[in-house]
Amino acid sequence: MLNLYNTLSHKIEKFQPLKKNAVGMYTCGPTVYNYAHIGNLRSFVFEDILKRALSANGFRVKHIMNLTDVDDKTIKASQAAKQTLKAFTAFYTHAFKKDIRKLNILPPAKFAPATRYIKQMMTLVQNLLKKGMAYEKNGSIYFCLAKFPNYGSLARLSNQELKIGARVEADNYDKDNPADFVLWKKWTPKDGKVFWKTPLGKGRPGWHLECSAISVKELGQPIDIHAGGVDLIFPHHENEIAQSEAAFGKQFVRFWIHGEHLLVENQKMAKSLNNFFTLQDLETRDFNPLAFRYLLLTAHYRSKLNFTLESLQGARNALNNLYEIIRAWDKPKIGCAEFEQKFIDAINNDLNTPEALAVLWNLVKSDYPTSAKAATLLKFDKILGLDFIKYLGKKEKIPVAVNKLLAERVKARQEKNWQRSDELRKKIEESGYSVEDTPQGQKILKS
Ligand code: AMP
Ligand code: ZN
Repeated sequence: MLNLYNTLSHKIEKFQPLKKNAVGMYTCGPTVYNYAHIGNLRSFVFEDILKRALSANGFRVKHIMNLTDVDDKTIKASQAAKQTLKAFTAFYTHAFKKDIRKLNILPPAKFAPATRYIKQMMTLVQNLLKKGMAYEKNGSIYFCLAKFPNYGSLARLSNQELKIGARVEADNYDKDNPADFVLWKKWTPKDGKVFWKTPLGKGRPGWHLECSAISVKELGQPIDIHAGGVDLIFPHHENEIAQSEAAFGKQFVRFWIHGEHLLVENQKMAKSLNNFFTLQDLETRDFNPLAFRYLLLTAHYRSKLNFTLESLQGARNALNNLYEIIRAWDKPKIGCAEFEQKFIDAINNDLNTPEALAVLWNLVKSDYPTSAKAATLLKFDKILGLDFIKYLGKKEKIPVAVNKLLAERVKARQEKNWQRSDELRKKIEESGYSVEDTPQGQKILKS
């Protein structure tokens, strides 16, 4: 039984979908105005583990992820780049899809770009206007917080913090100033060519609207799971709840699941702080993206993780070590039920990946035949997503040139030419291998 921490109840709860086996899951996708940074990617990896854990528990998951391709940031950045919004966001959408592929993040059933849901957003706003939950002011339309007494329940804002009648234009703002947020923004010259002419007037949607409109269109309401990083709890998710519940008179989301931040020098990694790495930056430094995925799995998703290149090196060493060990394993057969149970217990305990990795290493060190260990490791990898299948039983093919050096070295040693033998060892090492002399002969290892 999968247990998950629900931000709404502040408790770990047994997860049960509304329908028997089918789970509707929505995750807030990236704002496609730049490359994703590895902090963003931490959130997407956590959501991937969540989705894989649901599948491992026998649920069929329908996962929808939006792409924010129109908002304050995308408009501003596309203008600075002197590109149309469409071409500009298409470029970063493509880059994002490449990043998640490299991290073995399973794609959603559908990517939902906000600009393809303008009609649904407009209908939602009309619905709110009809119900008296929204109002127009100077050509823009705002959600009226005073009409929604439940506002703030996810972020646990106290009522007195709400300044009745205050309005906020920006897509993002802080917790100290909850206010009537904008649903539909009237066009201003700053928006340039970005606008839609609708019965709501010439303008564009506010950022929060897209997730409510896309979620109900693609998954219905209520849905089982909505996830994102903790920074989205306020105002984004709070506003989504207000819009969706006010419009349809029923609960929006049953389980709210939030992942903690990746930090750099104990500060949030953010584009605005200019303290970020992209996946490409890590690859340039010769890190396999999966070493980063491994690093993320060493921390619980609800704990902050302070990123350092040293910790990434540690993760890389651990993962490479594991890959080397399993190259020598036999073909997968049967499995080790004892470890499989421990592993799924860890995952089902609110996605405890550090514990799951500990189980993995105990399996590796155990006395089971390698064929059984291999079968179990492949089962683990359905959740971990670390590509073990690529290495399992694949004894490394030693390059011809290195084999030649090895043969020469055997000869040199037979002739007791130790100096030549040492020279050859050096050459072998320069080719990326190390050689050990054992009673059975030379043992070659990739270094
Ligand atoms: P954005 O592209 O800004 O809309 O963010 C995409 C996702 O990244 C959201 O789920 C955010 O909550 C998440 N996010 C932003 N910064 C970080 C961070 N430093 N660590 C983890 N997740 C983050
Ligand atoms: Zn969202």
